[in-house]
Amino acid sequence: MTVEFEYWWLLVLPLFFTLGWIAARVDIKQLLSESTTLPAAYFKGLNFLISDQHDKAVEAFSEAVQANTDSLELHFALGSLFRRTGETDRAINMHLNLLEKKELTPNQKSAVKAELAQDYLKAGLFDRAEELFKGLDDTRYRQPALRALLEIYVREREWIQAIDTATELERLSGVPFRREIAQYYCELAMNEIIAQNHDAARKQLAFALDANKNCVRANVLLGDLETTEGAHQAAITHWKRIEFQQPEYLGLVAGKMLKSYRAMDSLNEGLVQLNTYLETYKLPSLMSVLYEATLAEEGAEKAARLARNELIRQPSLTTLDQLLQARAMADDVNNQDIQLMQQTVRNAIGNRAAYHCNQCGFRAKQYHWQCPACNAWESLPAEPSEAVSREMTIKKNNAK
Ligand SMILES: [Zn+2]
Repeated sequence: MTVEFEYWWLLVLPLFFTLGWIAARVDIKQLLSESTTLPAAYFKGLNFLISDQHDKAVEAFSEAVQANTDSLELHFALGSLFRRTGETDRAINMHLNLLEKKELTPNQKSAVKAELAQDYLKAGLFDRAEELFKGLDDTRYRQPALRALLEIYVREREWIQAIDTATELERLSGVPFRREIAQYYCELAMNEIIAQNHDAARKQLAFALDANKNCVRANVLLGDLETTEGAHQAAITHWKRIEFQQPEYLGLVAGKMLKSYRAMDSLNEGLVQLNTYLETYKLPSLMSVLYEATLAEEGAEKAARLARNELIRQPSLTTLDQLLQARAMADDVNNQDIQLMQQTVRNAIGNRAAYHCNQCGFRAKQYHWQCPACNAWESLPAEPSEAVSREMTIKKNNAK
């Protein structure tokens, strides 16, 4: 019995030894202070953030930062709040003060610089932001820095630097930037077109197609260049290639194509071509161009027939408006009634047809390659959408 008792002690002793060793290495004081001063203000701040009370969150986080002057993470949280509430000067001052602390390690300094660069970017101080982002050689910040630099170059329309940065970003992240790079080349081409350097513009557009063989804008611009030189057949050849890139964009060049066919005295060939496109791709903007041309060239009767056939194929208020217009022009009977109907349809359509950005929802009356609101490329759909017809579809579906 006594022998067994001594054995137990032999087992317990190392356990006590280990516990003592752990206790010596854990700073109880620090644990206690972190669990008292930090969470109170910090979690209060988080609560305000969740309930969207940004001003109160700033107050709570400032309090937490004062209680924990050494916590970089807390400073960064407060800094990002400052940026979000538009108080970029406060964020800048705070991060500049942090940088003056001598006890920061090189890693911590890079982290503060990365935050400061974000402040400058948000404040619109692009030169200073660019300088800081470029100087961040820490690999942890390389990708976010490149993304920020790309944003700066696009905003400042520095396309060559944008191309280099996007290429590097693509290499590092594996995320493709082909569409954007092709657009940057198109922007360079635009500059050359404005300066009337057509050959230089063509070179940039070839680069654009090299970067992204589906770059529709490059073929639109190549065609435009040919028409300014009177080479209509060559222009049509470029525009026709859009069918094999992204046919939904054919509506963008339909009007121009017809003009070039007309300039070559072969309007009929153009009408046949657009009719084929309409039958294959059923694009509303193609229908509008075709309708106007048919009305002008072949008269109201033929235009009405075109609109009627299209309306049977797919219901659309715009086509109904066209049918009523052509009817009003073709018939003399009941002209007033038809005008009244047409007026009603036009009121229903209103100004609602627009291009809606698929990134931010911005409504544009005209097509833009880059969304004016969120700066995304090719984020507007190729065709404007009729808000009315969507509402009608919803009502129809509800009725079922
Ligand atoms: Zn947008």
